[in-house]
Amino acid sequence: MGIKGIGFDIDGTLYNNMFMYICTIPSFIKHPRLVYHYSRARSRIREIRPVNNFRRTQAELVAESMGHSEVVVRAMIENKLYEDWENLFRIIRPFPGLKTGLVKLREAGLKLGVLSDFPVQNKLKFLGLEDWDCSFTSESTGYLKPHPEPFLELAKRLKLKPEEILYVGNSYEKDVLGAAAVGMKTAHISARKKPGSRADFTFSQYKELFDYILGLQAENH
Ligand SMILES: [Mg+2]
Repeated sequence: MGIKGIGFDIDGTLYNNMFMYICTIPSFIKHPRLVYHYSRARSRIREIRPVNNFRRTQAELVAESMGHSEVVVRAMIENKLYEDWENLFRIIRPFPGLKTGLVKLREAGLKLGVLSDFPVQNKLKFLGLEDWDCSFTSESTGYLKPHPEPFLELAKRLKLKPEEILYVGNSYEKDVLGAAAVGMKTAHISARKKPGSRADFTFSQYKELFDYILGLQAENH
């Protein structure tokens, strides 16, 4: 079956990951305890089922390990971390060739979506990439990648079956294995191909990905 839509991760996929690490250094320096406990909570929350209110559960986990109240911690995460990160992301730029390539995919009639584990809207604005059929954070589904829920939500929002979607991401475990588990095709952006990779396609330059996708389109017509 042909591909009818492409889903993209954001961090390390639409722009160079190094920017993300550099951008988050100031918040590590300013709020080391908060960042430490936040990172631990983000790992633990991947194991919890079900999560009814993601932001609350995340705050509860951080609060428990920091010994603060959930209300205070939730405000700290949203005002210190998320706001700081969003402001710092003003300097990020998309990978070369990405913007024009996305226009070509649109012209080829493909639907385009974005799914990230972190809040998305301002990042996409700063990247100058705002033309999507859907863009959302997995937090809104209550589960982080590689849980199936965010990927199934992507299919629902694109109004496509999972097997009609190619998901593009830089994390082998979260993006490639997560999307493949619900039946999506996968493309792994990586400097080198992972031995035994289950990704349908591995690339390091966007031109390669766009040629691959448009080649698949041509085969199906
Ligand atoms: Mg990523």
